[in-house]
Amino acid sequence: NVAMEKIIRRKSLQLRNKQQEWLDSSEGQQMLEFRKSLPAFKERDMLLKTISENQVVVVSGETGCGKTTQLPQYILESEIEAARGAACSIICTQPRRISAMAVSERVAAERGENLGESVGYKVRLEGMKGRDTRLLFCTTGVLLRRLLVDRNLTGVTHVIVDEIHERGMNEDFLLIVLRDLLPQRPDLRLILMSATLNAELFSSYFGGAPTIHIPGFTYPVRAHFLEDFVEMTGYRLTQYNQIDDYGQEKTWKMQKQAQAFRKRKSHIASSVEDALEAANFKGYSSRTQDSLSCWNPDSIGFNLIEHVLCHIVRRERPGAVLVFMTGWDDINSLKDQLQAHPIFGDPSRVLLLACHGSMASSEQRLIFDKPEDGVRKIVLATNMAETSITINDVVFVVDCGKAKETSYDALNNTPCLLPSWISKAAARQRRGRAGRVQPGECYHLYPKCVYEAFSDYQLPELLRTPLQSLCLQIKSLQLGSISDFLSRALQPPEPLSVQNAVEYLKVIGALDESENLTILGRHLSALPVEPKLGKMLIYGAVFNCLDPIMTVVAGLSVRDPFLMPFDKKDLAESAKAQFSAQDYSDHLALIRAYDGWKASEAQQSGYEYCWKNFLSAQTLKAIDSLRKQFSYLLKDTGLIDQRTKNCNTWSHDEHLIRAVICAGLFPGICSVVNKEKSIGLKTMEDGQVLLYSNSVNGAVSKIPFPWLVFNEKVKVNTVFLRDSTGISDSVLLLFGGKISSGGLDGHLKMLGGYLEFFMKPAIADMYLSLKKELEELIQE
Ligand code: ADP
Ligand code: MG
Repeated sequence: NVAMEKIIRRKSLQLRNKQQEWLDSSEGQQMLEFRKSLPAFKERDMLLKTISENQVVVVSGETGCGKTTQLPQYILESEIEAARGAACSIICTQPRRISAMAVSERVAAERGENLGESVGYKVRLEGMKGRDTRLLFCTTGVLLRRLLVDRNLTGVTHVIVDEIHERGMNEDFLLIVLRDLLPQRPDLRLILMSATLNAELFSSYFGGAPTIHIPGFTYPVRAHFLEDFVEMTGYRLTQYNQIDDYGQEKTWKMQKQAQAFRKRKSHIASSVEDALEAANFKGYSSRTQDSLSCWNPDSIGFNLIEHVLCHIVRRERPGAVLVFMTGWDDINSLKDQLQAHPIFGDPSRVLLLACHGSMASSEQRLIFDKPEDGVRKIVLATNMAETSITINDVVFVVDCGKAKETSYDALNNTPCLLPSWISKAAARQRRGRAGRVQPGECYHLYPKCVYEAFSDYQLPELLRTPLQSLCLQIKSLQLGSISDFLSRALQPPEPLSVQNAVEYLKVIGALDESENLTILGRHLSALPVEPKLGKMLIYGAVFNCLDPIMTVVAGLSVRDPFLMPFDKKDLAESAKAQFSAQDYSDHLALIRAYDGWKASEAQQSGYEYCWKNFLSAQTLKAIDSLRKQFSYLLKDTGLIDQRTKNCNTWSHDEHLIRAVICAGLFPGICSVVNKEKSIGLKTMEDGQVLLYSNSVNGAVSKIPFPWLVFNEKVKVNTVFLRDSTGISDSVLLLFGGKISSGGLDGHLKMLGGYLEFFMKPAIADMYLSLKKELEELIQE
C-alpha cells in the first residue's frame, strides 16, 4: 500500500511538471489566452470551490460558454496542481458518441497532448484511453453499462453528466442510479451541466444542490419564417419561372443542369404556395399538435433548402451556414443532390460538410476549421449541432423544423426512425447558433403559424417513449424492478400505465412471469419500434416472408396511405376494396397497394397510380424509406443473414402473412359471429365493438373468419377498431401469444381463457390434437 502511494505520488508530480511545461510554452500560452476568453473562465475558482464543498452541483450556461471543454478540465488541472493528479478519475458523459469524441480531442489539444494520454474517450465499440487517462469522455450508455458491472464506480472521483436539459432517457436513467449511489460514496462528486436555466428541477431532485449559472453573450439573430423569406429572397413565387439564375451556360452539361434546376424551381414555387395556402386555410388556430400534422415540409423538402442556400451563397455576406436536418439519411441524400449542383459542387466556392453521429472523425475536424477566403462553409447537421457541438463561424442557420428524437441508444445506438416537430425552445436554440460571432440570420422552413403551434418545451424522453419500449430498456440495462425503478425518476410516468405495460409484455412473451427478459424480449429491445411491430418483423424474418411484413410494419408506423376525401368517400372506399380482393384484410390491401405503386414507380407512373387509387404518394414514399431502414436494422442485429436471399421464400403465401400479422397484433383480437343482418364483433375487454367504415371489413355483409386481429382501437361512444385482418382458429392457436415461457401448457391455458370466453367449443378438439403435435415438435 505504501509502495502504491509512492507510485501515485511520483506520477502526480510528473503530471504536474508536464502540465506546467505546456503552460510555459508559447503554444500553451496562446491556448490559455483563448481559454481565458471563454465566459466559464471568470467562474473557474467559484466552480472549483463549490464542487469541493458539495457532493452535487448543478451548472448552467449558454451553449458555447465553455461547460463541456472547460469545466472537466478545470477539475483535472486543479487536481494535478494539488499533486493529486494520478489519484483522480473524472468521467464526463455525453448524450452522443460524436460529441464524446470531438470534445475529448479538443480537450487533449488544449492540454497539448495526444488523445489517450491524460484525456480519453469511450463510446460503444470504440475508444481511445490509456492506463493513465484521468479524464474520460464517454456516452451516457457506456457509463450505464459500466454501472452494471461496477455498482459503486470504484476509483471514480468525479462524475459529470452533460446536456441534462435534453432530458434523454439514458440521462434520466443515469440520474436515478447515481442518486441511489451517492450515500454509499460520500467522497464522489456529481456535477450536472445544462444549457438552459431549468436548474431548479435538478437541484431539488438532489435535495437542494447548489446551482451556478455562467453568464454568456450572444449577438441578436433575425428570424425569417417561410412567408418572409419567400418575399425577401426577391422571388415573387408566381414569377419563379421567369427568373434565370444561369445566364450564360457555357457547356452542354451546364445547360442541362440549368434546365433541370428551372424545372425544380417551378416545382418549389407551386408546392410552397400550396403549403402556405393550406397553412393559412387551416389557420393553426387550435394550437394542437394535431394541426402540425397538416403541415408537411417533406413536400417542399430539399429543393427549398437548395433554394435558400443558393440565396445565401449568391447574395449574403460571408459566414458559415448551418443546416438542421432530420437524420443522416436525409443529410446524405441532400449532400448528393447539392454536389451535383453548379454552385455547391464547386469546391472553390463552397465547402460542403456533413455533421452527424456516424461520420468519420477526419471529416469531423473539418467542421471546426475555417475555410479558405471566398469559400463558404455549409454544414448539414442533425440536432446534435443544437447544443453539444459549437461551430464558431456560423452566421446563417437553416432550420427544417423537424428532428428524429434520440431514443433507444442505450444499447444499440440506433436512431429513432420517424422525424417529428421540434419544440419552440429547440427552434430558439437552433436560431441562436447563428449569433456566435456577429449578428446572424435564421431561415425557418415553415410558416410562423406552424411555429406558434410547436409545444414550448420538448417532453422528457422518458415520458414520450412508449412505456412498453421503456420497460424493455430498463430490463435490458438490468436496472431492477421496473415499477420501483421508474417511481424514483425525476418525472415518473403513471404507475398504472407502467403496470399495464409490464402485463402486456408478459402476454406477448417479451417478459417471463418473474419479469425477466426472454429471448424474444432481448431481440425486441434492440429494435427501435414498438414491441408489437418488432415482433412482427422478427416473425417475418424467421418465417421468410419479410418484404410484405416490412410493408405492414412501415405502414403501421407511418400512417394510412389510403386517402379518404370527405366528398369522394364512396369512390375512395371502392378503390380500396379493389386491393382487398375478398380477403378480409386491411393489411393485405396495404401490401397490394404498395407493391402496385412500386411497380408503377418503376415505369415512372407512380403519381398517376396514386391519383387513380386514392393513395398518398408521400406516405408511400415514407413507407418505402422506412422499409429500407428496417432491412438495414435487421441485418445489423443479425436477424437476417446478409448473404442469403431466402428471407422472402414465403412472401407470396398469404396464409403465412396472416399468421405473422397475428403474432404481432395479439392480444388485439376480436371474435366474429355472422348474423342474419349484421356481424357481431366482441373483444374481451370491451364487449361489443364496431369497425371503422374505411376498413375493408367495414362494408361486407359476412366475414368468413372466426377472428379478426386489429392494430388499434379507438373509443368514441362505442369502441371502434382500425385496420383488421381475418384469421383462422389454427392461426390463433399457433401464433397468438407465446409458447416459450410456461411451456406449451401455459400457452394453451392462456389461449384457453380467450377461447372459453368467446365460447368457441368447436375448436377444443383441434386444440387437443394440436397440443400433442406441438409437444412432439417442440421435443424435436
Ligand atoms: P459548452 O459546453 O458550454 O456549450 P464548449 O465547452 O463545448 O461549450 O465550447 C466552448 C468553446 O470552445 C466554443 O465556443 C468554441 O469556441 C470552442 N471549441 C469547442 N470545441 C472546439 C473545437 N473542436 N475546435 C475549436 N474550438 C472549439
Ligand atoms: Mg457542451
